[in-house]
Amino acid sequence: MADCLFCKIIAGEIPGKFVHQDDELIAIEDINPQAPLHALIIPRKHIATLNDLKPEDDALVGSMFRRAAALAKQHGYEHRGYRAVFNTNREAGQSVFHIHLHLLAGRGLAWPPG
Ligand code: AMP
Ligand code: ZN
Repeated sequence: MADCLFCKIIAGEIPGKFVHQDDELIAIEDINPQAPLHALIIPRKHIATLNDLKPEDDALVGSMFRRAAALAKQHGYEHRGYRAVFNTNREAGQSVFHIHLHLLAGRGLAWPPG
């Protein structure tokens, strides 16, 4: 997608602080971190929102969550706790329309969220 920020980061046209990359996804540090660990797990495939997922994306979404768990473990948060969340559309605050899983850890995370 020509005008997509995350497609541009994946293509190397815009810099990102990569913490993981493989055939199907990348993970980068969030530019405006909301916790000591705030990573974004992003599929290479452009999918605008969770509403656009297809059955053939099921394994990809599983890989995204498993990568979030692996990164949390890598940073020592597997037992302390962490949050992995997708924001979808306006009321949830989605600002980049290429799905991304937020991984947040390193501080107490309120529930319910704001
Ligand atoms: P959302 O609001 O759920 O769509 O999340 C988009 C996230 O992307 C926000 O947490 C932003 O801080 C983050 N973000 C925006 N631009 C960049 C960038 N160039 N590199 C890394 N993260 C970014
Ligand atoms: Zn994209």
